[in-house]
Amino acid sequence: MEQLKKWTTEQANKLFLIPFFELLFKAQKIHRQHFDPQRIQVSALLSIKTGLCPEDCKYCAQSSHYKTGLKTKKLIEVNHVIESAKKAKLSGATRFCMGAAWRNPKERDMLPLETMIKEVKALGLETCMTLGMINRSQASKLAKAGLDYYNHNLDTSKEYYDKIITTRTYQDRLDTLENIREAGIKVCSGGIVGLGEKVVDRASLLSQLANLPKPPESIPINMLIKIKGTPIVDNEDIDHFDFIRTIAVTRIMMPSSYIRLSAGREYMNEQTQALCFMAGANSVFYGCKLLTSSNTNENKDLLLFKKLDIKHECIDIDEVSDNQKNFDLTQVASNTEDLQFYNAAD
Ligand code: SF4
Repeated sequence: MEQLKKWTTEQANKLFLIPFFELLFKAQKIHRQHFDPQRIQVSALLSIKTGLCPEDCKYCAQSSHYKTGLKTKKLIEVNHVIESAKKAKLSGATRFCMGAAWRNPKERDMLPLETMIKEVKALGLETCMTLGMINRSQASKLAKAGLDYYNHNLDTSKEYYDKIITTRTYQDRLDTLENIREAGIKVCSGGIVGLGEKVVDRASLLSQLANLPKPPESIPINMLIKIKGTPIVDNEDIDHFDFIRTIAVTRIMMPSSYIRLSAGREYMNEQTQALCFMAGANSVFYGCKLLTSSNTNENKDLLLFKKLDIKHECIDIDEVSDNQKNFDLTQVASNTEDLQFYNAAD
């Protein structure tokens, strides 16, 4: 259901001040009104074009402004994408996200992108792309090809934004979100905790997202991965309780959106992840490398889900039977060679 309440940054900021357990309790109650607390949506992420990005996002290994030692790759072949998507589906993912390190896609890129969407959808997976800024006509082409979600993060507050990115404006990002929405594609947009921002910036970012004409259906909350060579590699570590608080406040402000534990999950122990789920996170990236950064592997995820009695969320289209899926998951869990299968980033 569409969220109608409008938030001020002050109201959001006050939520961050609620005592930890009370905040978690409040978030968990809201979470249960909108979702099954034992279900998690699982997405897989494939880098379809890696590195040499002209943007200067200070956290990013793929920016051409920094020497991060990243091995770059041009737009990969459609066949490679299909093979990776098949394996992702076998591992239990229901959504396949394809990310390209571009300022924006060129017109010549549109046809292969549309083909990728069609082929991945034909496998019975939801599709998501993150390609940088897109205009209306590009959004409409992606929508026609069947794209379900488009990811475009706001990253941080409007106020702190220019400390992190100078090559595109906050308004550029909002315009892309509007183009996505107008094309009828679901919006995936969130931010990063640990950029050096203050709590009030987190409150401002979440207000911005919650006050969009329609809040994003999917909200990735990332913990900064400190990449050698980037300007913010020496940032102070984020306190995990502050991260969990951010998840809880996101859940309270956007009750019916999926909240994804994204980058940085490999730095969290099981207990931190469990508290994130309790605070309202209900989506993860699974077993691959998150674009260019290593993610927790599937074995660990499967064990944690088992300990917490968490089940994967299923999708209706062309779904494999539960028995088949359980069998496939067991196979994947016992085959460590499969763990890196959709790491196209290195
Ligand atoms: S975050 Fe995206 S836009 Fe920014 S430098 Fe990295 S790949 Fe480019």
